[in-house]
Amino acid sequence: MALKNVISEVFAVDVFNDAVMAERLPKKVYAALMKTIEDGEELNLEIANVVAHAMKEWALEKGATHYTHWFQPMTGITAEKHDSFISPASNGGQAILEFSGKELIKGEPDASSFPSGGLRATFEARGYTAWDCTSPAFLREDAAGVTLCIPTAFCSYTGEALDKKTPLLRSMEAISTQTIRILKLFGHDDVKKVDCSVGPEQEYFLVDREKYLQRDDLIFTGRTLFGAMPPKGQELDDHYFGSIKERIAGYMKELNIELWKLGILSKTQHNEVAPAQHEMAPIYGTANIATDHNQLVMETMKKVAKRRGLECLLHEKPFAGVNGSAKHNNWSLVTNTGKNLLEPGKTPHENIQFLLFLSAIIKAVDENAVLLRMSASNPGNDHRLGANEAPPAVISIFLGEQLEDVIDQLIETGEAKSSKQGGKLNIGVHTLPELKKDATDRNRTSPFAFTGNKFEFRMVASSMSAADGNTVLNTIVADALCDMADELEKADNFDLAVHDLIKSTLTKHQRIIFNGNGYSEEWKVEAQRRGLPNTPTMVDAIPSLIDENTIRIFEKFSVLSSVELHSRAEVNYENYSKTLNIEAKTMIEMANQKYIPAVIKGVKVLADSINSIKSAVPGADVSVQTELLVQSSDLLAKAKAAVTHLENVIATADTKEEAKERAMYFKDVATKAMEDLRAPIDALELIIDKSLWPVPTYGDLLFEV
Ligand code: ADP
Ligand code: MG
Repeated sequence: MALKNVISEVFAVDVFNDAVMAERLPKKVYAALMKTIEDGEELNLEIANVVAHAMKEWALEKGATHYTHWFQPMTGITAEKHDSFISPASNGGQAILEFSGKELIKGEPDASSFPSGGLRATFEARGYTAWDCTSPAFLREDAAGVTLCIPTAFCSYTGEALDKKTPLLRSMEAISTQTIRILKLFGHDDVKKVDCSVGPEQEYFLVDREKYLQRDDLIFTGRTLFGAMPPKGQELDDHYFGSIKERIAGYMKELNIELWKLGILSKTQHNEVAPAQHEMAPIYGTANIATDHNQLVMETMKKVAKRRGLECLLHEKPFAGVNGSAKHNNWSLVTNTGKNLLEPGKTPHENIQFLLFLSAIIKAVDENAVLLRMSASNPGNDHRLGANEAPPAVISIFLGEQLEDVIDQLIETGEAKSSKQGGKLNIGVHTLPELKKDATDRNRTSPFAFTGNKFEFRMVASSMSAADGNTVLNTIVADALCDMADELEKADNFDLAVHDLIKSTLTKHQRIIFNGNGYSEEWKVEAQRRGLPNTPTMVDAIPSLIDENTIRIFEKFSVLSSVELHSRAEVNYENYSKTLNIEAKTMIEMANQKYIPAVIKGVKVLADSINSIKSAVPGADVSVQTELLVQSSDLLAKAKAAVTHLENVIATADTKEEAKERAMYFKDVATKAMEDLRAPIDALELIIDKSLWPVPTYGDLLFEV
């Protein structure tokens, strides 16, 4: 008997997708809805009523009792408020199950308790969620039962965006419009819409849940705030792509099935560089759907882990000393006619249209480097960027040998005559097939790398929403394309004008291109020489959200208004300070309640040992115990002093009223005070009897799953 394949059995069973709609909606309604989805035409209530009814019937058949508008406030995670389908029947005593078009397209959650950066006062509570019909509704099953989830955007009573999805959708419209202008100039009148396609690779750690529950730092902050390096880290490179352990393999299997049910094209899975670190990459999709899916991926990763006695850590840097996690955001532009505009073809030097799009992206990234860095930033990512494992805090673009050569030719001689080819790869074993080599090697150290037919934005923080980075990318590239279209539409001789424009743009912005090792010290020096901004922390990057240029661009394309941008800067400052405040308080609590008492026990054992040996054998050698006792007591005193200092620091932070000032203080003063507390405790971990150590160590967490 042939086994039915699990993928074909479960794929998208929980999604109200195109196929289900085609089957369940009257032809006319389906056509009208598709017009809204594909061409952005407004949806009327009549249509919404019919769709709502079909959606409800479908959900009820699958056991749903509730529905929710599912949205993405500025917390970076998702929010939901469940309503049951229940309604009183007119004949009394009975209940009927109802769901109207109005309930489908609009919700009214209280907006006052979500971050708004001052946009909403608590007494001005009204907020609206609006159905994003381009992202399919889905069912979610948990202890609450089955719930119909409707992806929505979230805005205030006065129409300001309070979420991450609204600006993303607006930016998608902007880039589509500007790209179409350029395509028209090249004679492609058939293109009606351009989508930015996004494939977010998600890195994560898995640790044993029992051990996780013994660490307050993991519970409250998602990362370890203390912990000495075990004898083994990642130096043997034996984890990356290593064979997957049974317990992890079982996890990945269940994760895949859950994701497939939700229509998420979970494709690639492997072990990552750090011990206990893994990755899942889906097949790419349209930016807003990919962003919604990535939220579901993160949520499902956590849920499945708990079921299996594991805990999934999505933090950017759960463990000091080994690699942290990213969300590599692969991005490209695809027309509704199916053409990837970032596909250079075999001879990129002849592909003028590609070179124009490439120049626009180079210009956009160079002109908005700090803003792009900001879009990838959260407090956790400050522990990654600029450290020797992750992209540096300087934005640059990797193009690879082939494209760099084409660009060099263009800049030097005004004309590119050839493209370097990849050729054949000779492995030196006759029984192995001859492989075709890519024209370009990979570069893992670049924050923004061209990878064949897309850009990989490698800076993005692992736990944050994929929306911000793509919103910024779309908007800044739309702006560059708009400038170009303005110029080219006026040109008498298009061929000449486009050629000159590519050359002048590349000449002006070539400083952002860097193909070398982004982790090296030399690059930092070279980047400074080139005048590229180095933005070491998130706090340093926040002002880019409200600088003149950002406001101009974002208002020009109606992605975010000045008021909305200011509110987002505020939310970011607040989020930074709150995160660090929680971390500092957790450190103080752990030091006071766990580490210091454990060390006091440890030094007592040493002191008792010295005393009893001395009284049993006067003159015996107790130098080892004495040395350890002195060393431990010294570190203990340092730890206690550091606790007191950190307490003072956060008390002072509390007196800083202005959000930016408070964040600056946390960045400049609190981070240092936290390091000063961590150092003596980590040193103590290495000399205190392990049986006395109050929490699982790095070794226990990283190597014992
Ligand atoms: P690597 O780790 O080698 O960079 P992965 O296979 O882990 O590659 O991930 C590559 C990601 O890029 C996948 O999510 C893939 O679907 C996505 N991708 C491929 N082509 C495109 C494209 N044209 N636009 C956006 N994303 C793409
Ligand atoms: Mg990868």
